[in-house]
Amino acid sequence: MPYDAVVIGSGPNGLAAAVALARAGHSVLLVEGADTVGGGTRSAALTLPGFVHDVCSAVHPMAVASPFFQTLPLAEHGLEWVQPEVAVAHPLDDGTAAALFCSVDATADSLGEDARAYRKLMGPLVAGATGLFGDLLGPPRLRFPNSPLTAMRFGLRAIRSGSGLANAWFRTERAKALIAGLAAHAVIPLEQSPSAAIAIMLGLAGHAVGWPFPKGGAQKIADALASYFRSLGGRIETGRVVKSVDEFPNARALLLDVTPRQVLTLAGHRLHARYQRALGRYRYGPGVFKVDWALSGPIPWRASECRRAGTVHVGGTLEEVAAAERAPWRGEHSEHPFVLLAQPSVFDPTRAPEGKHTAWGYCHVPHGSTVDMTSRIESQVERFAPGFRDLILMRHTMNTVEMESHNPNYVGGDIAGGVTDWWQLFTRPVARLNPYSTPDRSVFICSSSTPPGGGVHGMCGYFAAISAARRLK
Ligand SMILES: Cc1cc2nc3c(=O)[nH]c(=O)nc-3n(C[C@H](O)[C@H](O)[C@H](O)COP(=O)(O)OP(=O)(O)OC[C@H]3O[C@@H](n4cnc5c(N)ncnc54)[C@H](O)[C@@H]3O)c2cc1C
Repeated sequence: MPYDAVVIGSGPNGLAAAVALARAGHSVLLVEGADTVGGGTRSAALTLPGFVHDVCSAVHPMAVASPFFQTLPLAEHGLEWVQPEVAVAHPLDDGTAAALFCSVDATADSLGEDARAYRKLMGPLVAGATGLFGDLLGPPRLRFPNSPLTAMRFGLRAIRSGSGLANAWFRTERAKALIAGLAAHAVIPLEQSPSAAIAIMLGLAGHAVGWPFPKGGAQKIADALASYFRSLGGRIETGRVVKSVDEFPNARALLLDVTPRQVLTLAGHRLHARYQRALGRYRYGPGVFKVDWALSGPIPWRASECRRAGTVHVGGTLEEVAAAERAPWRGEHSEHPFVLLAQPSVFDPTRAPEGKHTAWGYCHVPHGSTVDMTSRIESQVERFAPGFRDLILMRHTMNTVEMESHNPNYVGGDIAGGVTDWWQLFTRPVARLNPYSTPDRSVFICSSSTPPGGGVHGMCGYFAAISAARRLK
């Protein structure tokens, strides 16, 4: 049967593109190479029976803040959010921790003498957060922002680097460390901009929408999107690795949820040489080394805030986190990596057998690394939670090569679909007025290698679908 559109790849962006097109009345086929849908939003029993692990994404502030996902009836399709009391905690060696609560005041109060500075930094942004997320998760084009005043305030704060922001606004180690942990999600050195923008955006998300888990695991996001897509008449084919877009000669639009290197393989022969060269120049960043644990009990954090947090940033002071994040850019493996850790089963009993727990953690490593970081990651956790190692029933690890074989979009282990520095933030995948379209009128790119970039929010897919729908008309 000929389809109006074929979407290749069922990550959150592929699913979002498929849903947006089906909702607009088009016939859509979604093709996925793996046996299950979801791409970077999948869960699996990686360790022991009864333990549900998130293979890639686990914590989803951007999914809740997503202007597109907010328009979808995902709750009716089984998606339920679990909100930890503390969005993220950041422990220090003195046994205390900085903590990001939903309330700005509670967060500020936990930062002692930096309380006033924190209120001044975040307070004015929180009121306009909804409009601001619409601006930040929109395509980068010149247009009047939804919330001009909030956008201006955000811009003035976010223009610098994560380290610059922390040092300019705060005096205490605790507040600086909190900013460092948030900035490290940018996967660029903390001395580089726009790491402050990522830090503020994630902090703001903590106040506006929290840092929730889907009940039952990240797979529930993909399952809800897939279920809604099917209810709109969409068809899904899994276990089919597409080799070329020519496999779908009758499709009027082809949307590729893949990164530039794979676009070249699938559709390069239909794109002119200049565009092919531009795609070839696209830059991928450091990779990740990930560990999933099945635990016999909750992680025994010394700081109580960590025991109440969904996510824990493990890496110590601003200086330590900055050093750890510089290392992969120099081709080095930090002895004391910065570890992003999530403990979903503390808030969602469906994730592990009674009394048992799961934990998810990763650190950044050089692109393509095969070095085993397990003991360095576990030493960092043990540093702030003595006795952690004794709880490990089983672990599952993935280096960058294993990550890429799990999902070909994670080229060299890069989980963000390419470097997110200023240049590539605005020109992903190539500098072009409509970044989702390609020189071939029927081929579109809808992955996180297009704006607004990595994370589970579906906005890349949504905007690509809008471009494709225009063409289909
Ligand atoms: C360890 C890790 C932790 C993360 N943590 C978070 C987090 O906590 N929160 C968050 O928001 N984000 C997180 N992310 C990032 C998030 O998962 C990605 O940004 C997101 O999944 C990108 O979505 P996408 O649709 O662009 O691509 P993907 O999710 O990568 O999906 C691409 C899909 O295309 C399929 N595909 C590729 N080539 C072909 C082909 N030739 N034929 C058929 N199918 C093909 C792949 O199999 C895959 O299913 C994390 C990622 C990783 C790896």
